[in-house]
Amino acid sequence: MIDRAHGYFRKGKETMSKRKREAYLIERLSEILRYGYRYSKAIQARFDAAGVKPEMIETLKNLEKLPITKKSDLVNSQKHTPPFGGFEVVPKQGMRRIYMSPGPVFEPGEWPYRDTRWAQALYACGIRKGDIVLNTFNYHLTPLAMMLDESLRMLGATVIPVGPGNISMQINLMRQLQVTGYLGTPSFLMSIIEAAEGMRLEPKKDLHLRASFVGAEMFPESLRQKMEGKLDIPIRQAYGTVDVGCLGYECPEKKGMHISEDVVVEIVDTETGRQLETGATGEIVATNFSKVFPMIRFATGDLSYLIEETCPCGRTSMRLGRILGRTDQVTKVWGIFIHPWQVDDVMAKFPEVANYQIVVTRKEYRDQMIMYVELKESIADQIGLKRKVEREIEEVLKVKGQAEFVQRGGIPDRAKKIDDRRIWE
Ligand SMILES: [Zn+2]
Repeated sequence: MIDRAHGYFRKGKETMSKRKREAYLIERLSEILRYGYRYSKAIQARFDAAGVKPEMIETLKNLEKLPITKKSDLVNSQKHTPPFGGFEVVPKQGMRRIYMSPGPVFEPGEWPYRDTRWAQALYACGIRKGDIVLNTFNYHLTPLAMMLDESLRMLGATVIPVGPGNISMQINLMRQLQVTGYLGTPSFLMSIIEAAEGMRLEPKKDLHLRASFVGAEMFPESLRQKMEGKLDIPIRQAYGTVDVGCLGYECPEKKGMHISEDVVVEIVDTETGRQLETGATGEIVATNFSKVFPMIRFATGDLSYLIEETCPCGRTSMRLGRILGRTDQVTKVWGIFIHPWQVDDVMAKFPEVANYQIVVTRKEYRDQMIMYVELKESIADQIGLKRKVEREIEEVLKVKGQAEFVQRGGIPDRAKKIDDRRIWE
């Protein structure tokens, strides 16, 4: 039997002491800052505008002196200086691959591919040498599928580069080739399970999966439990972006996502760019060590927090907590910030609720907040429930709001959790 629950991809690195880890990070950080400043026109211009030289960044805290790079900065600089905005450090002739991600953002692919962060993530999720792996991420134009493909090669696994779609073909492939590993979004895995059941197959027995790696989407714990139950295997997730690569991955303990040694991840105050203390919620900002397309303090737009306690798996890195939402989904009501994840926290306490949405409007210069609630089935004491929901809203969100019940299906499927309908004149 293969041991999928223990071991490390890079033991020496993954179990470094705190002191050693910090020294290693600072060394790699100074190296990439000097390299980026020397070879990338955009990085040099941004450092100069902030009056900072690479030598001035001697600690991780010093990173605060450097400006944050937003996705919109990347898009705008690429418009002015096509195709890569001056962030690239090599000419486009001779590049092995050029990717295009939504934005649009052009990215040169690293070649030869040496980044081991996704490989660490795949190993921690239980994929091993000898596995036959179905890679259902999209190979078309964006880099994730290809990065994972290269990383599976580092592990000694065999890849089926199938991409998404055509579920019955996927199921046939899985059965014919005795596929042991799945890579893709959680929702696509759920679709495969449902389709297999529709074909009167028993996923646990008729599919041969032993490890599953999911990403690129929110992965609620309820969905994990459902799928792990149906497949009887561990399903682990990782988090990253196409611009900065893998930023965190789950280990068998699934208590947060380990941050690889080969990237600097900060949690910052979105407005000031200042680093927040461990445990506080803020925006995930990352600096990677790519020698082709280095990203310095790239703002992901995603919210999370850091976990410092040691993990029983033996990896000594800090971990990212759950992804709590996007920075741009935050809404201010009566001057208080409300995040979509807080709305989830309020409603998690009411199992009788099927769907919900907050709508913010403005009447005579005053904010009004209504929580629309769909029930799974009608209940006798609606007024009692309305009061409980309103009390919970005030308790968690610190803002008064009304609860109103709507018919089943009254809230559209893909509705925003907080719909801000205020018009500012
Ligand atoms: Zn761990």
